[in-house]
Amino acid sequence: MSITIQSSSFRQFFTQKLLAAAMVSLLTGFIAVAPAYAQEKPMSTTNQQAALPRVLLLATGGTIAGSADNRGSGAYNSGAIGAQQLVSSVAGLGDLASLSAEQIASIGSQDMSDDIWRKLASRIQKAFDQGEADAVVITHGTDTMEETAFFLSLVLKTDKPVVLVGSMRPATALGADGPANIYEAVQVAVDKESKGRGVMVVMNDQIDSARGVTKTHSTSVQTMQSPNLGSEGYVDLGHVRFVKPAAQGQFLKLPEAPLPRVEIIYSHSNMDALQIEHAMADKAKGIVLAGMGDGNTSKAALAALEKAAAQGIVVVRSTRVSKGYVNRNVEVDDSKSGFIASMDLNPQKARVLTQLLIANGVTDPQKVQEAFLNGH
Ligand code: ASP
Repeated sequence: MSITIQSSSFRQFFTQKLLAAAMVSLLTGFIAVAPAYAQEKPMSTTNQQAALPRVLLLATGGTIAGSADNRGSGAYNSGAIGAQQLVSSVAGLGDLASLSAEQIASIGSQDMSDDIWRKLASRIQKAFDQGEADAVVITHGTDTMEETAFFLSLVLKTDKPVVLVGSMRPATALGADGPANIYEAVQVAVDKESKGRGVMVVMNDQIDSARGVTKTHSTSVQTMQSPNLGSEGYVDLGHVRFVKPAAQGQFLKLPEAPLPRVEIIYSHSNMDALQIEHAMADKAKGIVLAGMGDGNTSKAALAALEKAAAQGIVVVRSTRVSKGYVNRNVEVDDSKSGFIASMDLNPQKARVLTQLLIANGVTDPQKVQEAFLNGH
């Protein structure tokens, strides 16, 4: 079969396109061989870019902004690279979106705090309410990424996409995963299908929900997984594919006052009641048990937890096991003891939900249980 070019104007158009494509691939080739984060590409200002979706990138630090220090053998400092530099140095990002970048914090996410959560939540809500951005991408360390994602998913009122992204290797490491992860996060953020999906985590070609995702490996790039709920979709450099329909989450007001104290207590063999008694003495408003198996613990610990629940402390049974639901009234009589079963939520996420519920005045065990069932 032969293809005939019909008119000279079409031929001209085609030749121009070819020339443009050749220039783009030359340019891309040049950019691709440069080391990650080495170039400073100016931010988008042209008319063409003005028509692109507007993405606000909020940087908080983490390994994705990490740079090697002189301790050797893979040592690095989290959050050393700034927001502007992160954005400017990912090749091709300016073709996906019109980006602006702001630094919210420069920390390893092991130091994530309620204050930074509050800053993030207010900045995002303002950006959406005032029509400043069509989507938000947050660069974040992986250690507590799941907690920040889940927290934001509960307090933000929007159907616009919010995507958290991190990396397992610092920018200066061999095979740094940060640049590709940022690129894919922006791809997901601007994808039409992302609307109404709430807060997501994008890393290593996977899209995971804020509720489902957890860090499963201390060093591997495929650390972020959703053991109970499965991934929302997949992304490669060019395609975004969701494999699940969008699901509605619940909304809880972000309180003005500091979040209430909720402690996580890790269950183990030969366990006594001391940790629980200490939590009660610390005036914890809630206790989350990282129980064995289906949220179990020793008789001594159970008795102490019953005492706590009787005093009005919200007691949630979660599990130290990495996969599976904690169901009500299996080996523990939750109805009798006034406990809540965490269902699919791991201890760190159960803590976030418990804090926000208590802050919103929800402490009745039945109401708290309903909230744990809502949105999954
Ligand atoms: N400790 C780092 C952090 O959470 C680890 C990472 O980013 O992967 O900030």
